Amino acid sequence: MVKILVTDSIHGEGIKILERIGEVDVKTGLNPKQLLAEIKGYEVLVVRSATKVTKEIIDAGGKLKIIARAGVGLDNIDVQAAGSRGIELINAPEAPTIAVAELVIGLMLSWTRQLPRADASMKQGKWEKTKLMGSELRGKTLGIIGTGRIGRAVGYRAKVFLMNLLAFDVTKSAEFAERTGVRYVDLDELLRESDFVTIHVPVTPRTRHMIGKRELELMKPTAVLVNTSRGEVVDEIALVDVLKRGKIAGACLDVYEREPPKDSPMLKLPNVILTPHIGASTVEAQREAAVLVAEKIKVTIGK
Ligand code: NAD
Repeated sequence: MVKILVTDSIHGEGIKILERIGEVDVKTGLNPKQLLAEIKGYEVLVVRSATKVTKEIIDAGGKLKIIARAGVGLDNIDVQAAGSRGIELINAPEAPTIAVAELVIGLMLSWTRQLPRADASMKQGKWEKTKLMGSELRGKTLGIIGTGRIGRAVGYRAKVFLMNLLAFDVTKSAEFAERTGVRYVDLDELLRESDFVTIHVPVTPRTRHMIGKRELELMKPTAVLVNTSRGEVVDEIALVDVLKRGKIAGACLDVYEREPPKDSPMLKLPNVILTPHIGASTVEAQREAAVLVAEKIKVTIGK
């Protein structure tokens, strides 16, 4: 029977599937030395974010065939070391799609209805009814940069709010266009015409600082930038500058070039809504991640 070691807490539904595949040991909170000693007897290692799967750990795991991460990327795994040993890597990039899409809608509504300010002012004992005049998403133009899983999920939801959709991507989705009426345009046109711009591309050499000073200055002075992708896609210094100069109206951010963004001038700006990289942080997304990796492990072992 295949031996599976789980070293970070993952959702119970995933563990149940793993138990049907092999002998599962859940040992969370191991320090690197303890993990080094433990890993020897296992063919499968399942982690989330806390366990750092270094070359040392991989080399010590002589029987390892699969390393799985119940999450989006493989950031805490030495991918090169695993690859050179022929170890299969598994993760679940599909899991947080809905969670992130709903956060984007939540951020846009938080902006249009000034929800963070309304809540804070109530708790200060104020009743700022007249100061809290909002606006509607209906009829506004949403520009979606990257129409992969999350970008499309945002588009489908925004359509229900009666927003007009523009999109930019290196590959166009015909199904998405057909179902939503989204118009694919070039990046400059999207930036010029959108009331909200939401970013959903991965970080690559081509997308790093894809939104810099030039791009931000193309946006309307009333427009809002929403970034729930990766901090590095936006040049944060340029963003702070345009926000301070009122070149754009505001920004809603879940991701930052440095996390946490300690001492960043961003934290002091009045025209931003900030969340601490919580895009994937829903019970459902965590369950989905655990179930998806467990099922992928099952398929891989069955090959
Ligand atoms: P995806 O791979 O499904 O979609 C990415 C899209 O970007 C693709 O359609 C691709 O063609 C497009 N793209 C790539 N390079 C491009 C370029 N140079 N110009 C234009 N388009 C380009 O990815 P996804 O699952 O939708 O995830 C999107 C982003 O969300 C990623 O950056 C991911 O890391 C991030 N994410 C954030 C959180 C969070 O907690 N905030 C959670 C999950 C994912």
